[in-house]
Formats: sequence, structure tokens, C-alpha cells
Amino acid sequence: MPVALVTGGSRGIGAAIATALAADGYDVAVGYRGGADAAAGVVAAIEATGRRGVALAADVAVEDEAAGLVSATEDALGPIDALVLNAGITRDGLFMRMSSEDWQSVIDTNLTGAFYVTRAALRGMLKRRGGSIVAVSSVVGLTGNPGQANYAAAKAGLIGMVKSLAREAGGRGVRVNAVAPGYIATDMTADLPDATRDQILGATPLGRLGTPEDVAGVVSFLCSDAAGFITGSVISIDGGLAT
Ligand code: NAD
Repeated sequence: MPVALVTGGSRGIGAAIATALAADGYDVAVGYRGGADAAAGVVAAIEATGRRGVALAADVAVEDEAAGLVSATEDALGPIDALVLNAGITRDGLFMRMSSEDWQSVIDTNLTGAFYVTRAALRGMLKRRGGSIVAVSSVVGLTGNPGQANYAAAKAGLIGMVKSLAREAGGRGVRVNAVAPGYIATDMTADLPDATRDQILGATPLGRLGTPEDVAGVVSFLCSDAAGFITGSVISIDGGLAT
């Protein structure tokens, strides 16, 4: 059976991706940092589809833990066919007031963490001459956003990483893509002030926030053979917000 690792798979968008990939026939490792109960719930949903699931705690911003997440996935389920780089945090603040810690922690988790996990998983994919990597970037990485210089820099950085790796790994049959979600209804966006929420909805042609399932469907497609000639792409999932 094919194997997938989803970082940040314990809730929100990552949980929807993990269960969608299980429905596609993958055995799925659910990486998470906090919230073991939520991760166990996602594993139960995976197992309900008849596939194998495992929850693995690791901080992707710590090099050894990121590498350990990949080896623990391979030990539990087998070689990784699909890697979804979804773990992410926000530490918003206006540029002039942003602390160095808030800058660094977002870069460390959202960008460097993705690098650590990908480098650890890539060796096996190159050797087996196949695999699909999908990074969860953001509309903000394409457009920028006031109060999110750290987050936008990390998400734009992911796009540069994806496009570079797509060029390096394409000859070995490894595809590397990104998705750029707009505003998706999850814990991460639950605290948006009403005015901001109304402004976003007003600027979104489809007139609603996205759902985790909106993102999971596209990630599932990018991991599938139907996307076999797609690499180095960034697919927006934003209801038209950035058009
Ligand atoms: P969420 O806060 O609900 O979930 C984040 C997940 O990442 C959790 O499982 C958490 O355990 C994990 N995580 C955080 N830091 C980690 C670390 N250091 N190591 C390992 N795991 C870690 O967020 P979400 O809204 O589901 O977002 C998922 C991804 O989608 C993030 O990368 C986010 O930036 C991106 N995204 C979200 C939106 C949105 O509107 N919600 C829009 C665009 C992009």
C-alpha cells in the first residue's frame, strides 16, 4: 500500500488531508507537535477507512525530530510515497513591532521545518525514483499581508523551495508542488476580528471562507497519478481572492 506522511496532521487542514489520503488508499502517518488526543482521533478516522494510521509527535523545527519523524514513519508503515508539508504557525504583528523571536519561530517551523522533513524523506524517494511532495503555502505568500511579514516570508520561501526542488528531482520522477490556500475556517483563523472577516469575504469572489476539505481535495489530486505531469506548480485555493 502507498504511504503518506502529513506534518501537522492532528487538526484543521492537515487532519482533512490525512483522512482524504486514507480514503485514496494511503496508509498515513500523522505528525503533530501538541494535542495527542486530536492526533489519535485522526488515526481513528484513518483506520475507519480500512487503512493503517499512526500518530507521531515531533517538532519539525528541530532537525533531529524532523528526521526522526521520517524514519518513524518508514519504520511503522514503510517507504514514503506522498509527503505533505502542512505544519505551520502564525505569530502576527506589525513589522516595526515584530520581535526577533516571533520572526524566527515562524521561519523555523513553517520554512526550515519543511526543509528538514523534506531532506530526510527525499533520499528514499530519489532512490525509488518516485514520490509526490506537496507544501501547504498560503495566498499570503503570493500577495503579502500587513501584520504577517514573518508568515508571508516563510510561505513565499516554501514556493521557492518547491520550485527549486522540482527542478532538481524531476529527473528521478519526484514531483514537488505547493498549494496556496486563502482563508480557511480552522483554529488558526477562528479569532479573526469580524471586520477583517467581512473584508476578506468581500474580496473573495466565491463569497465564503474555504473549508479544510477544499484544500484536502487538491492535495489529494496532486498526490495522485492524475497529476503525473504536474511539478513545480502552485495551485491557489482561495475562492478567487488573489485573482
Ligand atoms: P492549525 O493551527 O489548525 O494546525 C496546525 C498543525 O501544525 C497542528 O497539527 C500542529 O500540531 C502542527 N504544528 C504546528 N507547529 C508545529 C511544529 N513545530 N512541529 C510539528 N507540527 C507543528 O492550522 P491550519 O489552519 O490547519 O493550517 C495548516 C497549514 O495551512 C499551515 O501551514 C497554515 O499556515 C496553512 N494555511 C492555513 C490557512 C488558513 O486560513 N487556516 C490559509 C493558508 C495556509
